[in-house]
Amino acid sequence: MFLQQRRRSLKNAGAAFALCGLLWLCRPAFGQTDSFVIEDIFGRTLNSRGIVLVDWEGHLANPAIQLFLRPPFDAVFPLQIALSANGARLYFDLPSTWCAAGPAKSIAFESVSSKKSFLISIFPDRDTLPEDYILTIAWSGGGGTQRTQNVDIHVIDQDKDQALLFDILIDFSQDKTGFFGDPAKRDIVTQAAKDWAYFIGDMSLDTVEQAAETTWIWNQDGFKSGYYVTNNSSYNGFLLFVYGIHHDQLRSGGEPSAGGGFQTSAGRELPLKRSGGVEVEIQGNYNALGWFLTSGDDDWWFSRNLSGEPNDLYSIVRHEMGHALFFETHYPKFASFKADGAVRDEAVYAYQGSFPKIDSHDHFSGEVDRASGKGMFGNEYHGTYGVGMPLGRWIITKLDLLCAQAIGYRLRATTAFVSAFIKDEKLPQGRIGEPFSGWLQAEGGIPSYFWSLESGDLPDGLNLDSFTGEISGTPARGGISYFNVRLRDNDESNPGVSRAKSLTVNPRTDEMLLVLSPNGGEVWDGGSRQTILWESQGSIAAVRIDYTTDAGKTYKSIAPSAPNTGSFVWVTPIESMKTCFVRIADAGGDVMDASDSAFGISERLLPPIHFQGERHENRSLLQREFVNFLRWEPPPGPRGIVFKYRIYIVEGSTRNLLAELGANSGEYLHRKVEKDKTYTYALVSVDSENRESQAVTLTIR
Ligand SMILES: [Zn+2]
Repeated sequence: MFLQQRRRSLKNAGAAFALCGLLWLCRPAFGQTDSFVIEDIFGRTLNSRGIVLVDWEGHLANPAIQLFLRPPFDAVFPLQIALSANGARLYFDLPSTWCAAGPAKSIAFESVSSKKSFLISIFPDRDTLPEDYILTIAWSGGGGTQRTQNVDIHVIDQDKDQALLFDILIDFSQDKTGFFGDPAKRDIVTQAAKDWAYFIGDMSLDTVEQAAETTWIWNQDGFKSGYYVTNNSSYNGFLLFVYGIHHDQLRSGGEPSAGGGFQTSAGRELPLKRSGGVEVEIQGNYNALGWFLTSGDDDWWFSRNLSGEPNDLYSIVRHEMGHALFFETHYPKFASFKADGAVRDEAVYAYQGSFPKIDSHDHFSGEVDRASGKGMFGNEYHGTYGVGMPLGRWIITKLDLLCAQAIGYRLRATTAFVSAFIKDEKLPQGRIGEPFSGWLQAEGGIPSYFWSLESGDLPDGLNLDSFTGEISGTPARGGISYFNVRLRDNDESNPGVSRAKSLTVNPRTDEMLLVLSPNGGEVWDGGSRQTILWESQGSIAAVRIDYTTDAGKTYKSIAPSAPNTGSFVWVTPIESMKTCFVRIADAGGDVMDASDSAFGISERLLPPIHFQGERHENRSLLQREFVNFLRWEPPPGPRGIVFKYRIYIVEGSTRNLLAELGANSGEYLHRKVEKDKTYTYALVSVDSENRESQAVTLTIR
């Protein structure tokens, strides 16, 4: 009733305006009249921008991107919509369907204020090309009319053509079944090995000499009896024997070589095995239906590896390789995690927020990778019961790899393992009245990004695009603007990172100044000599150099007038400062520039100065003693840094504490010293965190 009134009133444009204002008050999150509003986790409307998905580097379960839908005002409720997308590798969260034509999902809206979320992701491919797809929303409008709405989907592909840093050498020579006589099967095994190997970093492994490694091979009838083989030739990496078996349990297996050795690096033993085996049941996986042999990533959806269908050879082989390479109790760290019940590792916890539990089969039972929603190693069946993400080809997850790292492997810094960060790229200078465009740049994490201005202001007339990081517009006034930008990525649990930046707008002249150093990110020692560098154009004879630590509210002078030579040596103040910018201006203060991003100065604790003293004889009625009288002055710089002083007596290479004195003290009487003995003292400043400065020494004879 309410909505129909509203729709009618909207036809009368003049009357609608006032009503519209009223509706704003009672429904602050405003939808659209005749189409869905699609939003990201930051509440930004994506209708015209499109959806961004990322295909992380390597063959890895990609992050699931959460999106929200708000129904159109003119819809009839309850409303059922059909969501679909036109790519074989795309999928939605469950319940949904997925197949070669792409995924589909039904979502119900009870009322105009319903806001429903869904997840979308893409199965990885192996090329390096970005892709574009379309998300379609279809529903029945009033009067039974069929309505559709399209939203663009852009996929960022982060794959790279890079050489492997770790080799898994496949040896089919022990296959007595003929199963691996088929090149298509061998190719699948090789691909699975490369997919794991891509994520392993360079561990400077020593070469395993010929016949130095022993590997257990199961006989053709499976897990009953077997024999040992040794390596035919020297190798570097992991030697993996892959062969067929037939066992009445119709199961495959994978394990490191129990009787073999451990990897070494420069002769030092690593907790990593260096050979193993993968045995493939030739009739199928827990059935005798044979195997599905993949021909590419577009057929990831074909086999769900359930009991009534041929299972996907890639999935099972890659899983069994996981046991051979990482997840098995002959890896000492895995064994201790298993004894403890879970992978208690900080990096794993930092990502996942929990410690993945290990079951009796060396599987991570019930564990789901946080970013992708896919079941991790041994829990690849996650998604069977209408929750989670669709089943299909089993895939490496970020959590699998963090657990591999926890047992002793080094990971390569692939994109999934680099947190989102702001790059220190130079922003151009603006000119008053001229159109300006400059980009803040970021990398890592889960694109797309969300840029925001955290504090400070952009120059008048300029705006920041939250999606692209572009700063654009036409600056109205000259000067330097200081501001903090915050970068967030598509991970709700990540608060993001921020950076203090500057942007300069100069008048339209031929003169130009450009600060080159410090230009952001440096941390200079307080009290040290540092060279400030700049470039200039035009006829600027002298420059004024100063710095700010409060985003331009105040400046402290470095040089009121220095010749414009492009460099100036600055003795930095002894003070701890995190967000400093150096500013260089011409004499009139018309043309200027500042460091692009903040640099820092770390205070350095200096020793006391003027440490001196002498021996006195002290006589009284009752006794006669000799006293060494020590004096010093506080170090230069702000007083607050020194918390106390310590005096040591130095004897040979040992130093024994003589006294601790307050920061206000400047003398000490070392009483009852021996008349003819030589004493050497070391005096240090100590700060509030109990750090000592370098020592100054004094010898009294
Ligand atoms: Zn397993």
